[in-house]
Amino acid sequence: MKQLGYLLLILGVAFSCKEEKKKAQVVTSEEAEEEVAPVIIREFGYVLNNFNVVKDTIKPGDSFGAIMDEHGISRGKVFEITNKIKDSFNVARIQAGKPYTLLKSKDTTDKAQVFIYQNNKIDYTVIDFRDSIITKKNKKPVTLVEKVASGTINSSLMQTFDDLDLNFLVAYNMADIYAWTIDFTRLQAGDRFKVIYTERFIDDTIPAGIDHIKASYFEHRNKSLYAFRFMDDSINKSLDYFDEEANNLRRAFLTAPVKFSRISSRYNLKRRIRYYGNKVRPHRGTDFAAPVGTPILATADGIVTKSERKGGNGKYVKIRHNATYDTQYLHMSRQAVKVGEYVKQGDVIGYIGMTGNTGGPHVCYRFWKNGKQVDPFRQDLPSSKPLADSLRTSFFTHIEPIRNELDSILFEPQEIL
Ligand SMILES: [Zn+2]
Repeated sequence: MKQLGYLLLILGVAFSCKEEKKKAQVVTSEEAEEEVAPVIIREFGYVLNNFNVVKDTIKPGDSFGAIMDEHGISRGKVFEITNKIKDSFNVARIQAGKPYTLLKSKDTTDKAQVFIYQNNKIDYTVIDFRDSIITKKNKKPVTLVEKVASGTINSSLMQTFDDLDLNFLVAYNMADIYAWTIDFTRLQAGDRFKVIYTERFIDDTIPAGIDHIKASYFEHRNKSLYAFRFMDDSINKSLDYFDEEANNLRRAFLTAPVKFSRISSRYNLKRRIRYYGNKVRPHRGTDFAAPVGTPILATADGIVTKSERKGGNGKYVKIRHNATYDTQYLHMSRQAVKVGEYVKQGDVIGYIGMTGNTGGPHVCYRFWKNGKQVDPFRQDLPSSKPLADSLRTSFFTHIEPIRNELDSILFEPQEIL
């Protein structure tokens, strides 16, 4: 709610700014034939035309007192100012490199009257000492501008963004949205994307980051992956990304790779096996027993990196889900996927069998985190919250025009035929 309020507030400020600008422009055009009317420049809540304006940055070793002294303010007055404002602004804390603006009287004395310190691109502090000493903290108006972009990947997403001169922050945001769907380290030449996003601007001109991605489309290994931003929790105002069928893109792993199975042996590093003289034989997988021929499902979206027959593993498949996680499925009677194939969560990747080192039909499910086999039941995996049934209708109404807009964007760079 706070965020929305802020959004409306800044939009409000932005609109009122535009309004003022329009008025100023009308005056200019009416008088243009006679003489060029002075453009009224407003910043920090002041009409700059009424002052001699000095814009500079704090230099190493600079102090508030020294800057004031340089611009005609007596030591006594500086002491009065610093003392008066000490609770709201500590002048000793000004940092080298930060920009400041001095508004000075336009008369012959050319004395400083207002000091404006810019904490960052948006926040600034005003110290006005014309009459009584006033200090106030304020924010520059931020305008939100909706933009679209598209691209086709040759080597990497970053390279494509660089080639097309697009803001890298959009790529980072996209990587976050698709983190559970696409492994961005394994994009293929020809993968392509479209995105609708909102960029922030200060004073209508200075870029100040990406506000959010509204929707995007990614074509990865010939599969279409839509993402639409939607508020799925009106109480907590939480937003998530969903595909065109209202599935949450933040997907957890399925808890089992086989439906209607039972766990016959758990991940256990201290497992002892009588057959081997009661020696410790760690079990780094979880065994799910089921009849031969039962389908084995991919527990999350990813790319098949192995599909082969090898030693004790027998026929097996390995899937890379993202930069962190891989899963592996052993002892299949046969595999149903090839290396390089993109699979979605729940896709059939093979069938239960007894190949390799096994005493009965089961799938040994191995869960890899950063190249190490771990117990999937002890991982703190991202939770996936399905969209509430009550929100589905409004979701589909919401995404319809956005999807049309997304579909009408052409891919860049245009293909050369
Ligand atoms: Zn096993």
